Amino acid sequence: MSLKSFIDVSADSHFPIQNLPFGIFQPRGGKPRAGVAIGDLIVDLSALEELGHFRSPEFQGRKPFSEDSLNAFLALGRPAWRKARAVLQRLLSSKTPILRDNARLRARVFHAQKSVTMKLPVRIANYTDFYSSYHHAHNVGTMLRGPENALMPNWKWLPVAYHGRASSVVISGSDVRRPQGQVKPPDASVPTFGPTTSLDFELEMAFLIGPGNSLGEPVPIDRAVDHIFGLVLMNDWSARDIQAWEYQPLGPFLAKNFCTSISPWMVTLEALEPFRKSLPAQDPAPMPYLRAKDDFTFDIQLEASLQTSSMNAAHVITRSNFQNLYWSIAQQLAHHTISGCNLQPGDLLASGTISGPTDESRGCMLELTWRGANPLKLPNRETRKWLEDGDILAISGWCQGDAYRVGFGEVSGRIVGSNK
Ligand code: CA
Repeated sequence: MSLKSFIDVSADSHFPIQNLPFGIFQPRGGKPRAGVAIGDLIVDLSALEELGHFRSPEFQGRKPFSEDSLNAFLALGRPAWRKARAVLQRLLSSKTPILRDNARLRARVFHAQKSVTMKLPVRIANYTDFYSSYHHAHNVGTMLRGPENALMPNWKWLPVAYHGRASSVVISGSDVRRPQGQVKPPDASVPTFGPTTSLDFELEMAFLIGPGNSLGEPVPIDRAVDHIFGLVLMNDWSARDIQAWEYQPLGPFLAKNFCTSISPWMVTLEALEPFRKSLPAQDPAPMPYLRAKDDFTFDIQLEASLQTSSMNAAHVITRSNFQNLYWSIAQQLAHHTISGCNLQPGDLLASGTISGPTDESRGCMLELTWRGANPLKLPNRETRKWLEDGDILAISGWCQGDAYRVGFGEVSGRIVGSNK
C-alpha cells in the first residue's frame, strides 16, 4: 500500500484513500452537495470546486459538485471521473501540504460523517433489476417447478430482467413501510386483502450509468464500461405473497415497487480495479453481442445481518460474493441496449439477488428459510420465516486488499407497520 493519506484511516475502514467513493451529503443547516468519503470524514467537493481544483478541460467548464445530485458529474464520463480521483488522491496524500498543513482550509473542506445526512447520490431516472445469480434462479425455480425444470429455457442465453420503479428507490436508513395488497393462499378459492405476511429482503448490488446512449444505438459490449460509473449495495425489498398472486404473466409489480434501498456511496470502477477477476467461461457460449474480449467481475464480499427489536446487536444471516453472478455488468448493459433502448446518466441497473452455492450464502429469506419451511434461528432464540415490524436488515460489502479495504459501507432499513 504505497498510497497513504494524512487522514487517519483504520485497516478495517471501508474508505481508505484507495477507495474515494462519491455521494451527496447535507451538513446541518447547509445545502446538499457532493462529497467523497475518507475514513470517518467527508471531503466537501463543492468547497474544493470553489477553490478551483476541478477546472481542467475534463470538467468542460461545469461545476458538477455544487449540485444536489451527481448526475451532471456522471454525464461527463470517465476522463472527468479519473481526473477528479487523481486530484483527490493528490490533495489527500500524506505528501501534499495544501490541506495537510492548513487547519482553516481543513475546517472548510472536511465534515464528520456522523454529523451529516446522506442523500440519494443521483436522481434515478430509470431502474432495472436483473436476475443474474445462477444459484438464486435455481433455488427459486426449484421451489416453483422442481429441480429438473428449475431454470427457464432462456436463462443461460440472456440476462433476464424487469423494469422496476425509480421513484421508490430510497437512501439507506429510510424506514420500510410494510405494503398491503392482494394475496391468495394456494388453498383459498378467492384472494384476500391486507398487509403482506411474507416481507423479504434481496441482497443485491447495482451499477450507475454515466454517459447514456442515443435511442436506437445499442452499446457494443466492449464499450460497456465507458458507460458505467460505479457500484452501490442494494436491497430489493419484496412481498412474496403479493408477488405469488400477481406475477403471472408480466412479472413483479406491487410486490417490488413499494421500496428499494441503496447505499449512499458510489464506489468507482477505478477503485474496484485491483479486485477485478476474469468472468468464468459460460456454457452455452453467449451470442456474439454478449461476448466481450476480456469480460470481468469483482471479488466483493457481501453479507446481510438482521437485528430484531429485542436484540442488542445485529446477527449475520448470510455471506455471499459478487462473483456469484453468472452474467457480467458489461453483458447486462449490452443486453439492455441491444434493442436500441437508451440509458441515461444516473440510471440504476441492479444484479438481482446474489446467492452462492451453499445454504449459508443464500441472498433472501425466501431461500434461507425455503419459503418459510425452515425458519431462521436467531441467537436470542427468536425465529423468523419473514421480516417482522421493528426488524432492521443491513447489507454490507467490501473488497479485502493487503491491510486495507475498499468498501461500500452498508444499506440498511427498518420495517415499520402498514398504513391502514
Ligand atoms: Ca430483485
